[in-house]
Amino acid sequence: MIDAQNLSKAYGDVQALDDVSFEVKAGEIVGLLGPNGAGKTTAIKILTGFLQPDEGTVTIDGLDVLTHTLEVQARIGYLPENAPLYPELSVQKYLMMMADLRQIPQADRIVRLSEAVHATSMTEYLTRPIGTLSKGLRQRVGLAQAILHQPRLLILDEPTVGLDPTQIVEIRRLIQRLSKSSTILFSTHILPEVEALCDRVLILMNGQVRADARLSELEATSDAILVLQDKVRNIEPALLQIKGVRDVEPTRSPDGFPAYRILGAAKADLTPAVYALARENNWPLRELRRDVRTLETVFNQLATTAATEEA
Ligand code: ATP
Repeated sequence: MIDAQNLSKAYGDVQALDDVSFEVKAGEIVGLLGPNGAGKTTAIKILTGFLQPDEGTVTIDGLDVLTHTLEVQARIGYLPENAPLYPELSVQKYLMMMADLRQIPQADRIVRLSEAVHATSMTEYLTRPIGTLSKGLRQRVGLAQAILHQPRLLILDEPTVGLDPTQIVEIRRLIQRLSKSSTILFSTHILPEVEALCDRVLILMNGQVRADARLSELEATSDAILVLQDKVRNIEPALLQIKGVRDVEPTRSPDGFPAYRILGAAKADLTPAVYALARENNWPLRELRRDVRTLETVFNQLATTAATEEA
């Protein structure tokens, strides 16, 4: 659905994007995660044809954004960082105006409008001037305009920024609902948002893609945790014999049982081999699992690496 290749963009001396490539497949919901200034908005503006890259290409649904800008824009539902809502217009008038701009045929307008209003739960606010709505409701108006033309791809720039916790939950639910019928790419700097919504995460730092993986892949490590009922003699040398084991660290489980962190050399799952060895030797196995990191740990490790490289 989205194919971005080697995107670079500088504003004067600031390299906002530096050779960024990624893909988003149809049906996915992907989080573009990065700290402030990472380049998320720049990437999104390029994807939606509102900014030209210095280098690189983007195709959406097989169409080049640079050469087929209007066709691409007609296929995308875009929620910009600061949606240009008109404060004096009522929600209904604004959505009618957007339907006009999107050239939605007259015959379909009422149906499309009522579907968008229903999906975003805005029915009771139709006659309210946009300027009198709370930030959360304005964000919902922004989403309603983004889905008016039934796009198969939604690109949302920080959809929950500035909202209170209740509004955040509402917008997340809405995004989840919309993901049933559209592919979604949204930017955020909030880690739990990615954990709550995404199949896959792209982590952008200093204008570069630092990670591009399914959440489960990113959080899985090559380490295994083995917990025994009782101590076993000479277990460490035995574990070190397993192919792919780099080191073994003795530890204790939180409830006080002898445990071992088995560190892997590559990103392979060591637990089948450890289990086979435990069975073979009749070790009193209590627990065996693959260790996982939280997204926060991954993110902080990447941030440290990025900061070291910058220095
Ligand atoms: P935020 O979460 O704060 O919106 P972001 O990840 O969306 O950040 P961008 O807005 O794409 O990041 O900005 C990337 C870098 O480019 C930042 O250093 C920013 O200051 C700079 N930048 C963005 N727009 C401009 C501009 N129009 N002129 C000059 N510098 C810019």
